[in-house]
Amino acid sequence: MSRTFPTSVDVVIVGSGPCGAAYARVLSERAPQATLLTLEVGPQLADPPGGHVKNILDEQARAAAQRASEGPAPLSADTPTDTMDGYADEAPRMARPGTWLLPSGYRQPGEDGLPNAAMSSNVGGMGAHWTGACPRPGEGERIAFLDDLDELLTEGERLLAVDDHAFDDAPFADEVRKRLADHLDADRAEDRRVAPMPLAVTRHADGRLTWSGSDVVYGDATRANPRHTLLPEALVTRVLLTDGRASGVRVRDLQTGEEHDVAARYVVVAADSLRTPQLLWASGVRPHALGRYLNDQPQTVYAVRLRDVGHADQEDVDPRGRSSIVAQSGVSWVPYTDQHPFHGQVMQLDASPVPLAADDVPTPGTIVGLGWFCAKDLQESDRLEFDETAPDPYGMPGIQVHYRLTEADHASIAAATAAVKEVAAALGDPLGGEPFTFGPGASLHIQGTVRMGETPDGTSVCGPTSEVWDVPGLHVAGNGVIPTAIACNPTLTSVALAVAGARSIAGSLSERN
Ligand code: FAD
Repeated sequence: MSRTFPTSVDVVIVGSGPCGAAYARVLSERAPQATLLTLEVGPQLADPPGGHVKNILDEQARAAAQRASEGPAPLSADTPTDTMDGYADEAPRMARPGTWLLPSGYRQPGEDGLPNAAMSSNVGGMGAHWTGACPRPGEGERIAFLDDLDELLTEGERLLAVDDHAFDDAPFADEVRKRLADHLDADRAEDRRVAPMPLAVTRHADGRLTWSGSDVVYGDATRANPRHTLLPEALVTRVLLTDGRASGVRVRDLQTGEEHDVAARYVVVAADSLRTPQLLWASGVRPHALGRYLNDQPQTVYAVRLRDVGHADQEDVDPRGRSSIVAQSGVSWVPYTDQHPFHGQVMQLDASPVPLAADDVPTPGTIVGLGWFCAKDLQESDRLEFDETAPDPYGMPGIQVHYRLTEADHASIAAATAAVKEVAAALGDPLGGEPFTFGPGASLHIQGTVRMGETPDGTSVCGPTSEVWDVPGLHVAGNGVIPTAIACNPTLTSVALAVAGARSIAGSLSERN
């Protein structure tokens, strides 16, 4: 039986990841009279919609939710759900559970490409599968022309329920941070010193920890809003324009194949860094910067076993094989600075990423994974191109990636490798051989493809409120909007930028009513 699609709403939001959800939340709070429609190509996995799959404790149910997120050609049902799988593999392409890779076009001859460029297709987007690290950008990562960036980040932290102290009682976490601080903090500004990683997790009264997904971003304000509708399995194929202004969307109901036009005063495209520019291109919105300044964060990883720490109180706990967050999963943050231009993430792991001897059961919290992320040397020529003659699995214009690591990128990766070895030596005894650098795209932090600018000078797609230059009523959202080459995990920043966009729509809607 076919579903009812509204014929007209105030705001259509394309995509239900954290950024689309942020628009729905802020509009529900600030423009409660507005009718809102979220259209999401993937299926709904959980109730309430947008929940994180790692909060599903039953392993089979979790695996089913992950497979359902993997786009038109999911992996086989017996693919493991353990997200540590493949962490230290040298496989040329690596799909994390709940994600799917570009099937083709990810590398052009003679270029580096983005072999690990991934997407998630489900209610909640990648936010149903992410790790929840929410550091603030600092120094050169910041968007200099946004005077209110800090306030927007604070609002982003509220929407994502970011907690700086969720793992304060993780065994050895203080010791890990002390060793990191002794080694790294001497010349750092106070707000860029080693710290617990701010994480989008909630500690419940009974001590249980859960990950924030879009469900948390939507919050009760959106769920209780009778004027917000979320329709899953609904592919937006086109943004409709009237006299140069966004006037609605064309959507294909994947349950029936029927197409519908929905009129709207505002359209927000929050369809990830690959598919947001794809949808604009398919709609004939093709500013020069569309798809350009594509960037990902080259990532180098290493693992150590903490030296001289003895045993933790929870030594009876063997954390291996668990997917829920456990108290020993401490995460520390080494903030980016202009002098140390890497974002460092130091995780006390639930399992070793490199094989240990069968009888070597690590004391919980003593195996530590280090991930150093680099900022890309931004190039206009790093870009997505679209090809209607070679459609993607949804029938949308096929994506062709042009992407090269420059000499500066290779130097930065070499410096990150040296830095990670030094830091590892300060913590303990390295496990395995040399640090390993993932292939491009593996950070899952693809940015820049619909970037924000202060003025319409041809190097950006949208202005400071994320409205596309010269297309009133059309907003873009997601990591693609971030204009700087940030090295830190981008979701908090993208959600903060979405807040500014949603506020501006809410303001215009109230003025016009
Ligand atoms: P998404 O979450 O990707 O959502 C976009 C949605 O749009 C998808 O649901 C998609 O199906 C939908 N869509 C696309 N095209 C269409 C269309 N045409 N019509 C309808 N719907 C469409 N980030 C961090 O900051 N910190 C972390 O610790 C972190 N860890 C991660 C770990 C993993 C394993 C993964 C997979 C990701 C991680 N990320 C992390 C990245 C983070 O999940 C993303 O930055 C975030 O989800 C981006 O939010 P978004 O709303 O912009 O896009």
